[in-house]
Amino acid sequence: MDFSPPPKVEPIRALVREFLAKEALPLEPALRREGFVALLPRLRRARERARETGLWAAFVPAEHGGAGLSLVEFAHLSEELGRSPIGHYLFNCQAPDVGNMEILMRHGTDEQKERFLRPLVRGEIRSCFTMTEPEFAGSNPVWLGTTARKEGGEWVLNGHKWFATGADGAAFAVCMAVTDPDAGDRHRRASMIVVPTDTPGFVLVGNLSVMGERGGDWASHGEVSYQGARVPLANLLGGEGMGFLIAQERLGPGRIHHCMRWIGVCERAFELMCRHAATRELSPGKPLGTRQMVQQWIAESRAEIHAARLMVLHAAWKVEREGTYAAREEISLIKLTVARTLQRVLDRAIQTLGGLGMTDDTPLAFWWAHERGARIYDGADEVHVDAVARRILRGYGMERR
Ligand SMILES: Cc1cc2nc3c(=O)[nH]c(=O)nc-3n(C[C@H](O)[C@H](O)[C@H](O)COP(=O)(O)OP(=O)(O)OC[C@H]3O[C@@H](n4cnc5c(N)ncnc54)[C@H](O)[C@@H]3O)c2cc1C
Repeated sequence: MDFSPPPKVEPIRALVREFLAKEALPLEPALRREGFVALLPRLRRARERARETGLWAAFVPAEHGGAGLSLVEFAHLSEELGRSPIGHYLFNCQAPDVGNMEILMRHGTDEQKERFLRPLVRGEIRSCFTMTEPEFAGSNPVWLGTTARKEGGEWVLNGHKWFATGADGAAFAVCMAVTDPDAGDRHRRASMIVVPTDTPGFVLVGNLSVMGERGGDWASHGEVSYQGARVPLANLLGGEGMGFLIAQERLGPGRIHHCMRWIGVCERAFELMCRHAATRELSPGKPLGTRQMVQQWIAESRAEIHAARLMVLHAAWKVEREGTYAAREEISLIKLTVARTLQRVLDRAIQTLGGLGMTDDTPLAFWWAHERGARIYDGADEVHVDAVARRILRGYGMERR
């Protein structure tokens, strides 16, 4: 494969870098000091200007109101946007909305597209995705307590969810619920159902306190209770029993977006590390970068970021050619590798900056707290290790257990 960015990507990246330098970077100190909610009026104005660039919801096909970039093209853009914690949000391609847009485009009925997808792409509303439950291991996506049963032409939902990113202020939730507990194939037990958040029985219990912060609006993780919430049967996404399949599909491109975003974070952390190493003097005329330990951190980080990017681009290329299922091993490998690379690079950068790295004068401490979840969401490291190793070992004759 050719790893060079497709021709249309370079000018787009340059445009986005310039835009973020002007619109996002100046907002970052206030984001770290005052939090996301205090910044909302300014963020909304910046989003309007982002819309004018023509790169709004860039991965969404033009027929649905986006800029229509391919997965590989968007991967490059996602790296650029990832250089700022608000990059994706400004261009309306932030998780979990991006994943919900994808599944609505693919599986939504015309009515669902009109009611939920179009306003989401236009940025008029936000959404959330409710799958994980406090009482059940999220790492086993076929084991859920939330149910949806048919009654009088409606789905009636009951259950308990948490870690619903952006549930605070979302207009609708996509809910993963068991619709056929007796299905012989456990992968066919659950379905996805769209639930407007003003439905009686949809209860946002509150925002979880995560790493010392409850946050708000998009920058929050909600606890949600479904208490007999009733929605029309027409709110089923895809077919009955397709929940697991759609979730897997959603996570394929989603992991590529996340991984490239993390590479953007790595690149910015790397720049901060190098600039500091080259200019911070330990004694007159002896910058930190003269120390072999720091040189090793720099060279290893460079190698790891480079390798990570090539792996992700390869996975994106394979998904485009052969689909998510064929690329499932590559997707697991990048999720695992890049999340760990991200943590290592951030750690080295903070160590290089010393006390300064711990302050909120740079984005490093913010990312250290906010990106720790990378090794947990979309499949914890161990889940991907398990999946990849089992698949490899089956090739050596180990039986499926
Ligand atoms: C920042 C953030 C945002 C999130 N956003 C959303 C969201 O929008 N919607 C949503 O539904 N969920 C969301 N989640 C939840 C996330 O998907 C789950 O936390 C994740 O799937 C793990 O599930 P769990 O927390 O129940 O951990 P568990 O499944 O209980 O696992 C706990 C630990 O066990 C270990 N483990 C698990 N399986 C194995 C194995 N096979 N072998 C060895 N060890 C293993 C891992 O170390 C894992 O971290 C989010 C989580 C975070 C941190």
